[in-house]
Amino acid sequence: MHSPMFSLEVFPPKRTSPVGTIYDTLDGLQGLDPDFISVTYGTGKSSDRTLTARIAHTVSEYGIPSVAHLTAQYLNKDDVDQALDMFEQAKVSGVLALRGDRIDGAEPAGVFEHASDLAVYIRQQRPDMKIYGACYPEKHPQSATLEEDIDNLKKKVDAGVTHLISQLFYDNEDFLRFLDKARAVGIDVPIEAGIMPVMNAKSVLNMSNKCQSKVPEKLGIMLDKWGGDKALLKEAGIAYASEQICELVARGVDGVHLYTMNHPCVSRRIWSNVKPFFV
Ligand code: FAD
Repeated sequence: MHSPMFSLEVFPPKRTSPVGTIYDTLDGLQGLDPDFISVTYGTGKSSDRTLTARIAHTVSEYGIPSVAHLTAQYLNKDDVDQALDMFEQAKVSGVLALRGDRIDGAEPAGVFEHASDLAVYIRQQRPDMKIYGACYPEKHPQSATLEEDIDNLKKKVDAGVTHLISQLFYDNEDFLRFLDKARAVGIDVPIEAGIMPVMNAKSVLNMSNKCQSKVPEKLGIMLDKWGGDKALLKEAGIAYASEQICELVARGVDGVHLYTMNHPCVSRRIWSNVKPFFV
């Protein structure tokens, strides 16, 4: 039996914080020993690919494999070539190929309409680069049904994606149902379950609204009870995420991808709860 994978996501510091704060995040994550750390990338042509590449490079300097996200619907081939060069120089171990969200009023470049188009291009340009992709246990909001979304996911895998990372979800049954359906259509690459710890009631509701992920009754009760108390909600969020991970590992998932939200203390607490199960 393989031990499940464990990976983390960080984002580049916001424009209002010094870029050096990423060292605090990465220092705080030391000892978690993840299989890789992925680094997000904003959407839109003006988003800073250099920053994602620099942070991915810093992750590699910590001795941890890094994965750089790239959203491509507003990019042309030259932009993507430039990004791939930078990622290669940053010694990333792979790229998470994404379409990205639509920006109101901005016209997509029309070259990479879907993440699968980007995957095909990366496969042609960099045959040795590992390509990751996103998946949606509760379906992508733009898909009419989960089945339609999974058929499109299969195209993404056929295009060269060899590892999937899921959107956040709060009900393990949603992920497990999705997993069965994905396997049934022949998607046989590793699929990591994306877990985002609850820390702030407002951001949970915003995220679940944006991603159309449901808030299960037991999470709703927690938000009602402790939503007004940051410290207590954080404790409840750590307990909730730890329980989710523990059950997922017991049910045999390929791995867990923890959205750190650059809060290493929360990630460390969760990791110390679940570490015994990652053997
Ligand atoms: P796609 O795979 O292109 O899917 C989008 C929609 O198109 C879906 O409805 C899908 O069913 C459909 N579709 C896909 N392929 C086809 C096809 N070949 N033919 C027809 N229809 C198709 N956003 C950021 O801006 N920066 C990030 O760093 C970032 N990281 C993320 C990491 C993870 C793990 C996840 C789950 C999401 C992330 N996102 C990020 C959000 C992501 O950009 C959005 O969810 C976006 O709306 C969809 O991107 P995608 O790559 O999944 O798109």
